[in-house]
Amino acid sequence: MQTAIIEDNKIVLKQSPKVELGENKGALVKVLGCGLCGSDIVKFVHKISKNGTVLGHEIVAQIEQINSDTPFKTGDVIVTSHHIPCGECDYCKHGNVSMCEHFKATNIIPGGFSEYVYLSEEHLKNVAHLKPDNLSEIEASFYEPLGCCVRAVKRANLLKDDKALVIGLGSIGILMAQTLKAFGMEVIGCDLITERVEFLKSLGISAYTKIPEQFKADGVFMTSGADKAIETALKHVKNGGKILVFSSTPNNYGYANNEIYYKELTVLGSYSPSPVDLKDSLELLKSGKVSVKGISTVYSFEEIEKAFKDTMSNEILKAYIKINN
Ligand SMILES: [Zn+2]
Ligand SMILES: [Zn+2]
Repeated sequence: MQTAIIEDNKIVLKQSPKVELGENKGALVKVLGCGLCGSDIVKFVHKISKNGTVLGHEIVAQIEQINSDTPFKTGDVIVTSHHIPCGECDYCKHGNVSMCEHFKATNIIPGGFSEYVYLSEEHLKNVAHLKPDNLSEIEASFYEPLGCCVRAVKRANLLKDDKALVIGLGSIGILMAQTLKAFGMEVIGCDLITERVEFLKSLGISAYTKIPEQFKADGVFMTSGADKAIETALKHVKNGGKILVFSSTPNNYGYANNEIYYKELTVLGSYSPSPVDLKDSLELLKSGKVSVKGISTVYSFEEIEKAFKDTMSNEILKAYIKINN
């Protein structure tokens, strides 16, 4: 089977033996397509993942072979995420599911940018769902990234009608803004790129390249980690407000102690979703409360390296790699 692997500074297609179900429980799935996540870019650019790694986890796939106690069957088209929390460890008990050791150790094999993937029984039981009929394959591929946004919004725990500011309107910012709106917050977004601002406006959410001077937010959602973005957050967060960190920062410059102290700010991080967040995400997509139409640009499997490049240069909002029909 064809897989896309990291080879030094490149993403290359490579032929490797097809994954097998064998006697294992779980499913062998044919990957129809896989979204390219910001975290894949970080792992590639900062060399966090070693050579030979198959990136990708936002898959839509069709079950080819199955041995499972779940009701899934051959031919079903499903969405799934890659990590599953144990539900019992100290992290899980404190709601920090993405810090759970089991969560970090579980994955889809070999990774989403592959013609075939093995999903464990645990994946099928906890994080896989049938693709809803009213969603296209590409729309359904937002199941996992939107789950990340659902988790961030829940963690911020704002009150209804609170003001929220989303800084950075890449695909995640656009999902975050809509999630906040769906949860009853009053949202505005900002980005330096005019087309991105216009995109959010087209979804009925106010957006700016420059935030109105007097605007103060109860919650600021950072989908960008640029120095400028951090400055903007500190300028527009209300006294006593919250800053939700949802992006790494290249210079590792953070939030100043005294700003946090004197303004009684809460700065909190949010990483990866729990099975419940994912379920909520699918509901938001199914109900149309979050629209993902027009966000993705489709690339063939052969064009995967270009998809990485175009994402890194902000040429596109989000890439979807079409792998099988
Ligand atoms: Zn993702
Ligand atoms: Zn755990």
